[in-house]
Amino acid sequence: MDLKSLIRDIPDFPKPGILFRDITTLLSDPQGLRYCIDLFTQRIIEADLKAEYVVGMESRGFIFGSLLAYQLESGFIPVRKPGKLPAAVHSIEYALEYGTDCLEVHQDALQVGSRVLIVDDLIATGGTAAATAKLVQKIGCQLVGFGFIIELRDLNGRKNLPDVPIVSLVEY
Ligand code: IMP
Repeated sequence: MDLKSLIRDIPDFPKPGILFRDITTLLSDPQGLRYCIDLFTQRIIEADLKAEYVVGMESRGFIFGSLLAYQLESGFIPVRKPGKLPAAVHSIEYALEYGTDCLEVHQDALQVGSRVLIVDDLIATGGTAAATAKLVQKIGCQLVGFGFIIELRDLNGRKNLPDVPIVSLVEY
């Protein structure tokens, strides 16, 4: 199955000049979604990245991260934008093109030495994934790798990530 054919391109979203890769058309396709998650699971297992916890970033990382965690029989831990998680949090600030952003995780969700796989729908510059990696490493977790459905190769986001294996299913 051709996953790329299920991903829709939306020009000029969210700003003029950006070509947005829209995965909602992949999610809504019954065979496509099953194929995507089965392939993702297989590639993660082949790369030996099965972990105790899958950590997924708001909000599309929740979708793929949860489905993958279920398949791997791992736990799922959400990393959220500030002010959304109800209990005490660890936070990390990171630089955007203009200004800064922040991500949070529950303090009691991860422990020192927990094996963690970070999952998001897409890696562009790698800023979001790199900040999440810093957050879990600050806690003292063992980061085993990263999994993305889509990788935008031109932006070379990989160079901003720690030196652990990276799985991506579709490249542009
Ligand atoms: P990065 O931090 O520059 O690597 O951007 C990745 C983050 O932005 C991820 O959380 C993605 O969900 C989101 N993102 C950036 N570009 C796209 C896109 O074209 N489609 C879907 N999500 C995107």
